[in-house]
Formats: sequence, C-alpha cells, structure tokens
Amino acid sequence: MDKILFNKTKVIATVGPASNTKEMLKKLIVAGVDVFRLNFSHGTHEDHSKVVKLIRELNTELGTHISILQDLQGPKIRLNDVEEGCIINDGDKLVITTKEVLGNSQTVSTTYQRLPNDVAPGESILIDDGKIELKVDSVKGIEVCTTVVHGGSLKSKKGINLPHSNVSAPSLTPKDLEDLKFGIEYDVDWIALSFVRDPLDIIDLKMKIEAAGKDIRVVAKIEKPEAVKKIDAIIDATDAIMVARGDLGVEMDMEDVPMIQKQIIKKCNAAATPVIVATQMLESMIENARPTRAEANDVANSVIDGADTVMLSAETAAGKFPLLAVQSMNKIIRSVESNYENIYYKYNSPNPESPDFYPTSLVQSSVRLSADTKAHVIAGMTWSGFTAWKLSAHRPKANIFIFTGNKKLLTMVNLIWGVRGYYFEGNDTTDEAIAKVETILKQEGHLKAGDAYITMASMPIKKKYRTNMLKINVTE
Ligand code: PEP
Repeated sequence: MDKILFNKTKVIATVGPASNTKEMLKKLIVAGVDVFRLNFSHGTHEDHSKVVKLIRELNTELGTHISILQDLQGPKIRLNDVEEGCIINDGDKLVITTKEVLGNSQTVSTTYQRLPNDVAPGESILIDDGKIELKVDSVKGIEVCTTVVHGGSLKSKKGINLPHSNVSAPSLTPKDLEDLKFGIEYDVDWIALSFVRDPLDIIDLKMKIEAAGKDIRVVAKIEKPEAVKKIDAIIDATDAIMVARGDLGVEMDMEDVPMIQKQIIKKCNAAATPVIVATQMLESMIENARPTRAEANDVANSVIDGADTVMLSAETAAGKFPLLAVQSMNKIIRSVESNYENIYYKYNSPNPESPDFYPTSLVQSSVRLSADTKAHVIAGMTWSGFTAWKLSAHRPKANIFIFTGNKKLLTMVNLIWGVRGYYFEGNDTTDEAIAKVETILKQEGHLKAGDAYITMASMPIKKKYRTNMLKINVTE
C-alpha cells in the first residue's frame, strides 16, 4: 500500500469538481489529507452522496480514518442571476430588489427576502467578497436604493455581506435543514455551521443532531463580528471552531483578522477546543503549481499560532493543482513541526473545580512524562474520546495514538492535532489491552524493542470511566 503521510497539524481539503473522483481522492489521502469537506453551498445531494461513498470505500481499502465534514451554507445572502458583462461604476445608482429579475447595471435581485428590513440608510452592502461596495440611500418597499462606492463587474450568484446590519435570518435556513437531514442520514463526522452569531445557534444545531440519535460533532464558523464578540460562550457551546477568514475579512476590517485569528486560537487551545484556520491559504495554487512566499508564510504562521487544522477550499475543490496544493501544505507544516519547538508542550493548569479535574491532571502528567522520558508514543484507550481531546490540547511532541472500539470516534478524531486512531476491541484486562496496543504499534512501525511508551486507560476497562490509569512501558 502507498505510505500515508502523517503530520501533527491536520489538513482539510474541500471536495469539488477538481477532486471528486476516487482516483484523486486517493491521491489526496496519500498526500496527507485528514478530513474532506463537503461544501453544501455548492453541489447536489447526489454529488455529495457519491463523494461520501467514495471516501468510505477508500477508508476501508487504505485502512485510513479520513473524516467527513459537512459545511452548511447558513444564512448566506446572494445575488440572483445577472446579465453577462454587467459593469457598475463609482457614483452609479443601483437598486437591489427581492423580486426575482435578471440583474443589469441598474437593478439586481437577491435571494434574501428580508434585505429591505435589515438595512438602513448609510449602511454598507458588500458584493463578491467586498470587491464591490454600495452605500444604502433609502429603502422603498421591496427595493433597496444604493449608490456605488467601489464599482466593478457584477456576476451571478455572488455573495452579499452586510457588515453593519443586524441580519435577522435564522441561523439554520430551510436549505440548511434539508442539508442537515443529509448529514444525519449519512452520519458524517462533523457539521460546520456558517455565520454563527450566538452560542444558541450551536446549541440548536446540537439539539437537532441529538434528537436524531447521532454523535456528530459541530464546528462553529466564526465569520461575523457578533461571533467574535461572543467567542468565549461560542467556544463553550461548540466542539470545534473555524476561523473562516473569507467572510470574516469582509464583515470586519481585514487588517484586524490576523490578530483575531491569534486570539481565537489561543482561547481554543486553552479550552482544548480544536480550531481550524480556513480560506485563501494557498489561493494562488488555484492557478499556479507553486504557492507564493506570503502563502507559505501564512500556513506556517497558522501552525505556529496553534491551529489544529488548516483548510484548503477552492485550491482542492476547483483548482488546477489539487494534489500539489495538498503536498505543498504538508511540506510547509512539516518544516514548522520539525524546526520550531515552541509549538509543543502547551500546559494549561487543570481547573480543580471541574468534574474532570482528575482525568485532565492525569493527561497533563502523561504529556510531562513523555517530555521527561523522551517516550515518543502516548497511547490512550478511550471510548468517549476525552483522552484524545485533552492529550492533543497539551501538544506533546510524542505521537498520540487512540485505541477505541467506538468506530465513529476513529474518524471524528482525525480532525484533531496529532491524534491518530486504531480500532480495538477493548474488553480484555488492562495487561492484555496494553500488550495488544504494543503489538499493533510495533507492527505499524511506531515502536521498536527498547522504546519507552506511555499508556493511558480507564480501569476497569469495561466500565468506560474517564481515563484513570497512567503507565510507562518499555517495548519488548
Ligand atoms: C470562509 O468564509 O472563510 C469560509 C470558510 O466559508 P465558505 O467557504 O463557506 O464561504
């Protein structure tokens, strides 16, 4: 079998026409993709179901646990269709109507019926990632009358952002609810919610998933100023965060995004919440076979900031060089991971008031032990994944392996920094379980005779308690 590349920082590749064949998906896995993202702003359910099946087939054939992330569009506001070659100039007047018409340089229409209610004179409307800027003059019934501040070429279906307005659309639109049914039916690993504004948006989605009886984890996409303001409560409510820099850089001043990224990552690392950095990471590779130096710096700096996962969007979904993009990203990650010690060993003091104080302290001790003894493997036997989440947050230099009989967990943890999973029937005694772990890790080339390694488990294994046992072993 082809050797799969492993770095600690994980890579998400968005699947699209450039990557949706079995052959290309396989190449991307071998090149080091850990998670495939299905972007429900594009494609049909039929397209996405084919990709889900291909990824699962490949997981079986390659023995991998590639994770599937469904990205719900959320209340994204868009233009309807516009005539070809439509240009608007600075100072022109443009009307946006909610009546569906083919747009021209005087009038365009939007999918968002509540636009006239949500905007007020003086506010900005941005189109196509902020390339076009309009100022609202007045609202007349279903029409919003504007003056063009920065003109340009108007194209069909482009996104609209309202950076100063309170968008009243619900966090899960009727389309999202249909797409959510798909995610639940196909039992994806992660669901990302776009344009989160409040922790309740996440709680609502989690309740819907729970009501369907599924264990699917939720990613809160941070792309609105409201979300940045409520970031602590959103981190508390969610399973993971995505710094969605595309929309965030339009909704807020772009120059503030780098520091917001750093602050969010710091908070997520402290809370043991996985954090993804997304958008335009290797943007020029949509067209070119090599990234720019600035892009290489951006990926490297995101790894240094403490991202669990970095994401490719159009580079792998629609670009000319999806495989080279994944390879470049992994080379940059590897260079940082092997040359920059400061990304490792982030100890956060466990909270004595927390019900998880003992297991969290034990996990931290295991990471310190691995540093002191130079043991290069920490193996945790887990059912809930708690050990995986907590071990990863301390960023050990040792490789983290999770052994679990919980099949869903194997693919889910593939998004988290440093964690790799093995399937394991764990109903033996602890001694037998550790012997099994050692055999598997030796077979896979992660341990050789004489190597020290650390094991964590919950005793008695059958009870599935939080981890309560820490042991240092020497490989036979
Ligand atoms: C983003 O805006 O950065 C993002 C990841 O969202 P999407 O790709 O869905 O626009």
